[in-house]
Amino acid sequence: MRKFLVVGNWKMNGSKPQVTNLLQSLTSMLQDLSPSVESVVCPPNIYIDQVSQLVKSTNIEIGSQNVACSQITAFTGEISPVMLREFGCKYVIIGHSERRALLGETDELVARKFAVALEGGITPILCVGETQEQQLAGQSFEVVTRQLQAVIAVVGMAAFKNTVIAYEPVWAIGTGLTATPAQAQQMHQHIRSLIDVEIRIVYGGSVNSANAAALFAEADIDGGLIGGASLKAQDFSDICHIAMGMTKQ
Ligand code: PEP
Repeated sequence: MRKFLVVGNWKMNGSKPQVTNLLQSLTSMLQDLSPSVESVVCPPNIYIDQVSQLVKSTNIEIGSQNVACSQITAFTGEISPVMLREFGCKYVIIGHSERRALLGETDELVARKFAVALEGGITPILCVGETQEQQLAGQSFEVVTRQLQAVIAVVGMAAFKNTVIAYEPVWAIGTGLTATPAQAQQMHQHIRSLIDVEIRIVYGGSVNSANAAALFAEADIDGGLIGGASLKAQDFSDICHIAMGMTKQ
Protein backbone atom coordinates (compact mmCIF):
# COMPACT_ATOMS: atom_id res chain seq x y z
CA MET A 1 0.00 0.00 0.00
CA ARG A 2 1.35 3.42 -0.93
CA LYS A 3 1.24 6.13 1.69
CA PHE A 4 -0.12 9.53 0.60
CA LEU A 5 2.48 12.26 0.43
CA VAL A 6 1.66 15.98 0.65
CA VAL A 7 4.68 18.24 0.16
CA GLY A 8 4.71 22.01 0.61
CA ASN A 9 7.17 23.88 -1.59
CA TRP A 10 7.60 27.27 0.06
CA LYS A 11 9.86 28.50 -2.74
CA MET A 12 11.64 31.78 -1.79
CA ASN A 13 8.99 32.79 0.74
CA GLY A 14 9.28 33.37 4.46
CA SER A 15 10.96 35.28 7.25
CA LYS A 16 11.87 34.06 10.74
CA PRO A 17 8.56 35.21 12.29
CA GLN A 18 6.50 33.87 9.36
CA VAL A 19 8.21 30.47 9.59
CA THR A 20 7.44 30.29 13.32
CA ASN A 21 3.79 31.34 12.81
CA LEU A 22 3.19 28.94 9.95
CA LEU A 23 4.75 25.97 11.73
CA GLN A 24 3.01 26.71 15.03
CA SER A 25 -0.34 26.64 13.22
CA LEU A 26 0.56 23.61 11.12
CA THR A 27 1.88 21.47 13.94
CA SER A 28 -1.35 21.96 15.83
CA MET A 29 -3.63 21.51 12.79
CA LEU A 30 -1.85 18.35 11.64
CA GLN A 31 -1.74 16.72 15.07
CA ASP A 32 -4.59 14.36 14.19
CA LEU A 33 -3.20 13.40 10.78
CA SER A 34 -3.21 9.63 10.48
CA PRO A 35 -0.04 7.74 9.52
CA SER A 36 -1.64 7.05 6.12
CA VAL A 37 -0.50 10.54 5.11
CA GLU A 38 3.02 11.90 5.20
CA SER A 39 3.28 15.69 5.31
CA VAL A 40 6.49 17.47 4.34
CA VAL A 41 7.49 21.12 4.27
CA CYS A 42 10.30 22.41 2.05
CA PRO A 43 11.46 25.81 3.32
CA PRO A 44 14.31 27.84 1.83
CA ASN A 45 17.53 26.17 3.07
CA ILE A 46 18.40 29.02 5.42
CA TYR A 47 15.27 28.26 7.50
CA ILE A 48 15.74 24.49 7.69
CA ASP A 49 17.37 24.62 11.13
CA GLN A 50 14.57 26.81 12.49
CA VAL A 51 11.98 24.47 10.96
CA SER A 52 13.70 21.41 12.41
CA GLN A 53 13.38 22.87 15.93
CA LEU A 54 9.69 23.63 15.37
CA VAL A 55 8.71 20.22 13.96
CA LYS A 56 10.59 18.18 16.59
CA SER A 57 8.31 15.46 17.98
CA THR A 58 5.62 16.17 15.36
CA ASN A 59 4.51 14.21 12.31
CA ILE A 60 5.86 16.82 9.86
CA GLU A 61 8.94 15.94 7.80
CA ILE A 62 11.38 18.35 6.17
CA GLY A 63 12.60 18.61 2.61
CA SER A 64 15.05 20.91 0.87
CA GLN A 65 14.33 22.68 -2.41
CA ASN A 66 17.78 21.92 -3.83
CA VAL A 67 21.00 19.98 -3.39
CA ALA A 68 24.49 20.13 -4.92
CA CYS A 69 25.19 18.07 -8.03
CA SER A 70 28.47 16.79 -6.57
CA GLN A 71 29.95 15.84 -3.21
CA ILE A 72 33.20 17.74 -3.84
CA THR A 73 33.69 20.29 -1.10
CA ALA A 74 35.27 22.99 -3.28
CA PHE A 75 31.81 24.07 -4.41
CA THR A 76 31.06 27.60 -3.27
CA GLY A 77 27.45 28.32 -2.41
CA GLU A 78 26.23 24.74 -2.61
CA ILE A 79 24.84 22.43 0.07
CA SER A 80 25.50 18.69 0.27
CA PRO A 81 22.95 15.99 1.06
CA VAL A 82 24.93 15.03 4.16
CA MET A 83 24.52 18.59 5.49
CA LEU A 84 20.80 18.50 4.72
CA ARG A 85 20.46 15.21 6.56
CA GLU A 86 22.34 16.58 9.55
CA PHE A 87 19.58 19.21 9.85
CA GLY A 88 16.78 16.67 9.63
CA CYS A 89 15.92 16.71 5.94
CA LYS A 90 14.40 13.53 4.60
CA TYR A 91 13.55 14.75 1.09
CA VAL A 92 14.91 17.05 -1.59
CA ILE A 93 13.04 18.55 -4.55
CA ILE A 94 15.07 18.06 -7.72
CA GLY A 95 14.48 19.43 -11.21
CA HIS A 96 11.73 21.88 -10.35
CA SER A 97 10.67 23.65 -13.55
CA GLU A 98 11.62 27.04 -12.10
CA ARG A 99 15.22 25.84 -11.72
CA ARG A 100 15.18 24.19 -15.14
CA ALA A 101 13.86 27.38 -16.77
CA LEU A 102 15.53 30.16 -14.75
CA LEU A 103 18.84 28.51 -13.88
CA GLY A 104 19.28 26.34 -16.96
CA GLU A 105 19.25 23.05 -15.08
CA THR A 106 19.49 20.36 -17.75
CA ASP A 107 18.21 16.79 -17.67
CA GLU A 108 21.82 15.68 -17.11
CA LEU A 109 22.39 18.02 -14.17
CA VAL A 110 19.09 16.94 -12.65
CA ALA A 111 20.19 13.31 -13.03
CA ARG A 112 23.47 14.05 -11.21
CA LYS A 113 21.60 15.74 -8.35
CA PHE A 114 19.29 12.73 -8.10
CA ALA A 115 22.33 10.44 -7.80
CA VAL A 116 24.06 12.68 -5.24
CA ALA A 117 20.91 12.91 -3.10
CA LEU A 118 20.59 9.14 -3.00
CA GLU A 119 24.29 8.67 -2.18
CA GLY A 120 23.85 11.11 0.70
CA GLY A 121 20.78 9.34 2.07
CA ILE A 122 18.13 11.86 1.02
CA THR A 123 15.02 10.84 -0.92
CA PRO A 124 14.67 12.76 -4.17
CA ILE A 125 11.36 14.22 -5.29
CA LEU A 126 12.04 14.39 -9.02
CA CYS A 127 9.94 16.99 -10.86
CA VAL A 128 9.00 16.39 -14.46
CA GLY A 129 6.50 18.10 -16.72
CA GLU A 130 5.92 19.76 -20.04
CA THR A 131 5.58 23.45 -20.87
CA GLN A 132 2.42 24.86 -22.40
CA GLU A 133 4.11 25.05 -25.79
CA GLN A 134 5.08 21.39 -25.58
CA GLN A 135 1.58 20.45 -24.48
CA LEU A 136 0.01 22.32 -27.39
CA ALA A 137 2.43 20.56 -29.74
CA GLY A 138 1.25 17.19 -28.39
CA GLN A 139 4.65 16.44 -26.87
CA SER A 140 3.72 15.98 -23.19
CA PHE A 141 4.42 12.25 -23.00
CA GLU A 142 7.60 12.54 -25.07
CA VAL A 143 8.99 15.31 -22.83
CA VAL A 144 8.24 13.52 -19.56
CA THR A 145 9.66 10.26 -20.94
CA ARG A 146 12.87 12.06 -21.94
CA GLN A 147 13.21 13.72 -18.53
CA LEU A 148 12.82 10.38 -16.78
CA GLN A 149 15.09 8.45 -19.10
CA ALA A 150 17.88 10.96 -18.53
CA VAL A 151 17.82 10.06 -14.83
CA ILE A 152 17.36 6.32 -15.39
CA ALA A 153 20.44 6.39 -17.66
CA VAL A 154 22.57 7.78 -14.83
CA VAL A 155 21.27 6.00 -11.72
CA GLY A 156 19.64 2.86 -13.16
CA MET A 157 16.11 1.67 -12.57
CA ALA A 158 16.68 -0.02 -9.20
CA ALA A 159 17.77 3.31 -7.65
CA PHE A 160 14.25 4.65 -8.14
CA LYS A 161 12.85 2.31 -5.51
CA ASN A 162 11.03 4.32 -2.83
CA THR A 163 11.80 7.66 -4.47
CA VAL A 164 9.14 10.20 -5.46
CA ILE A 165 8.26 11.65 -8.83
CA ALA A 166 6.25 14.86 -9.06
CA TYR A 167 4.36 15.38 -12.30
CA GLU A 168 4.09 19.13 -12.62
CA PRO A 169 2.82 20.44 -15.95
CA VAL A 170 4.67 23.76 -16.14
CA TRP A 171 1.57 25.53 -17.46
CA ALA A 172 -0.23 24.66 -14.22
CA ILE A 173 2.38 25.94 -11.76
CA GLY A 174 1.34 29.13 -10.01
CA THR A 175 -1.18 29.89 -12.75
CA GLY A 176 -4.43 28.73 -11.19
CA LEU A 177 -4.76 26.28 -14.10
CA THR A 178 -4.83 22.61 -13.10
CA ALA A 179 -4.61 19.48 -15.18
CA THR A 180 -7.95 17.69 -15.03
CA PRO A 181 -7.85 14.59 -12.81
CA ALA A 182 -8.15 12.47 -15.98
CA GLN A 183 -5.24 14.28 -17.69
CA ALA A 184 -3.07 13.95 -14.60
CA GLN A 185 -4.00 10.29 -14.13
CA GLN A 186 -3.04 9.51 -17.74
CA MET A 187 0.42 10.95 -17.23
CA HIS A 188 0.87 9.32 -13.82
CA GLN A 189 -0.07 5.97 -15.32
CA HIS A 190 2.46 6.55 -18.09
CA ILE A 191 5.18 7.41 -15.56
CA ARG A 192 4.39 4.30 -13.52
CA SER A 193 4.61 2.20 -16.67
CA LEU A 194 8.15 3.49 -17.24
CA ILE A 195 9.39 2.80 -13.71
CA ASP A 196 9.16 -0.82 -12.66
CA VAL A 197 9.98 -0.41 -8.98
CA GLU A 198 7.81 0.94 -6.15
CA ILE A 199 7.58 4.74 -6.28
CA ARG A 200 5.11 7.40 -5.28
CA ILE A 201 3.93 9.85 -7.91
CA VAL A 202 2.52 13.15 -6.71
CA TYR A 203 0.82 15.83 -8.80
CA GLY A 204 1.76 19.51 -8.67
CA GLY A 205 0.24 22.56 -10.31
CA SER A 206 -2.22 24.86 -8.54
CA VAL A 207 -3.46 22.16 -6.15
CA ASN A 208 -5.79 23.59 -3.51
CA SER A 209 -8.39 22.39 -1.06
CA ALA A 210 -11.11 22.63 -3.72
CA ASN A 211 -9.47 20.40 -6.34
CA ALA A 212 -7.34 18.03 -4.22
CA ALA A 213 -10.04 15.42 -3.58
CA ALA A 214 -10.74 14.78 -7.26
CA LEU A 215 -7.04 14.57 -8.08
CA PHE A 216 -6.13 12.31 -5.13
CA ALA A 217 -9.00 9.95 -5.98
CA GLU A 218 -7.23 8.91 -9.20
CA ALA A 219 -5.57 5.51 -9.03
CA ASP A 220 -2.00 6.65 -9.72
CA ILE A 221 -1.98 10.00 -7.90
CA ASP A 222 -0.32 9.50 -4.52
CA GLY A 223 -0.56 13.06 -3.22
CA GLY A 224 0.55 16.55 -4.16
CA LEU A 225 3.43 18.97 -4.44
CA ILE A 226 1.85 22.18 -3.26
CA GLY A 227 3.25 25.66 -3.91
CA GLY A 228 1.04 28.67 -3.15
CA ALA A 229 -1.45 26.81 -0.96
CA SER A 230 1.33 25.47 1.28
CA LEU A 231 1.99 28.98 2.60
CA LYS A 232 -1.40 29.09 4.32
CA ALA A 233 -1.63 26.69 7.25
CA GLN A 234 -5.37 26.14 6.87
CA ASP A 235 -5.12 25.32 3.15
CA PHE A 236 -2.15 22.97 3.56
CA SER A 237 -3.82 21.26 6.51
CA ASP A 238 -7.08 20.88 4.55
CA ILE A 239 -5.19 19.25 1.66
CA CYS A 240 -3.45 16.83 4.07
CA HIS A 241 -6.78 15.96 5.66
CA ILE A 242 -8.35 15.33 2.25
CA ALA A 243 -5.63 12.73 1.63
CA MET A 244 -6.36 11.15 5.01
CA GLY A 245 -8.66 8.22 4.72
CA MET A 246 -7.90 7.70 1.02
CA THR A 247 -5.62 4.70 0.50
CA LYS A 248 -3.65 3.54 -2.49
CA GLN A 249 -3.10 -0.14 -3.30
C1 PEP B 1 5.18 24.20 -7.28
O1 PEP B 1 5.83 25.17 -7.00
O2 PEP B 1 5.75 23.10 -7.38
C2 PEP B 1 3.74 24.34 -7.47
C3 PEP B 1 3.06 23.30 -7.84
O3 PEP B 1 3.20 25.59 -7.25
P1 PEP B 1 1.63 25.96 -7.19
O4 PEP B 1 0.95 24.95 -6.31
O5 PEP B 1 1.59 27.33 -6.64
O6 PEP B 1 1.12 25.87 -8.60
